[in-house]
Amino acid sequence: MNTGCPNLKCLKIDNNLQKDGFYFRKNDSRRIQRYKCRDCGKRFSKSTGELEYKQKKRRINNILFKNLASGMSIRRCALNLNIHQITVKRKLIYLAKKARLHHAEYLEKIRGLKKVQFDDLITIEHTKLKPLTVSCAVDSESRMILGAQVASIPAFGKIAKISRNKYGRRENNHKIALEDLFNQIKSSLDPQVEIKSDKHKLYPQVVKKYLPEAKHRRYKGGRGCVTGQGELKRKIRDPLFSINHTYAMLRANINRLFRKSWNTTKDPQMLKNHLDIYIQYHNTLLI
Ligand SMILES: [Zn+2]
Repeated sequence: MNTGCPNLKCLKIDNNLQKDGFYFRKNDSRRIQRYKCRDCGKRFSKSTGELEYKQKKRRINNILFKNLASGMSIRRCALNLNIHQITVKRKLIYLAKKARLHHAEYLEKIRGLKKVQFDDLITIEHTKLKPLTVSCAVDSESRMILGAQVASIPAFGKIAKISRNKYGRRENNHKIALEDLFNQIKSSLDPQVEIKSDKHKLYPQVVKKYLPEAKHRRYKGGRGCVTGQGELKRKIRDPLFSINHTYAMLRANINRLFRKSWNTTKDPQMLKNHLDIYIQYHNTLLI
């Protein structure tokens, strides 16, 4: 429902609105109420200002949301739903926006979480010479995903030199992403929260900065096992099980994060969008 007149020059907060008939929206078969502002004469409808405003294919939004969070590629979604892949791409951006609003509301309701785990997942931007990292935090008990941030990192190991020769020096935004993540989730955590992570050298300083009273426990990572998408570890009891299981879920359900996948991320922002869609699906439908 609209709260007021969409005319920016019409500065009154409580506009004097007058009902102004209906129109029939063909693409989802709904009767839409129109309004007229008595102050400035602007005519608009219930649809004005909504995230879906001017969309022509509202019927597929929900099924597309489920497909994108269930391991289907953009091309396959387009083929199955009989739409163009550019439509899927646009809808991915819209669905991510909606998911972010939903997630912000979700985080608002959560207070005082006592056990949290966080870690990083490595993926690529078009080629292995351009790695990306996905920093993610989960609630240890419910395995609810609290947030995920994407950052570019320089190539490491044997391919580092090849990467520098071919693409130049690559920016390392890992710390910024970690800080964004903690900024996003810190109000949902108890000040004395128990945080578990692996022994990455950046982690202690970021935890100390955002949650100075937290108990930060660090564990050695283990070897991945094949059945857990390389994310679940070959250990009897893995202290980081919640986060590793969540990463295995991301690898199994987001097409561009599959192991040995044909399709790769081309734009880090689109990976972030896809992650946000999955987070909403994970937190509302899976756990
Ligand atoms: Zn007005």
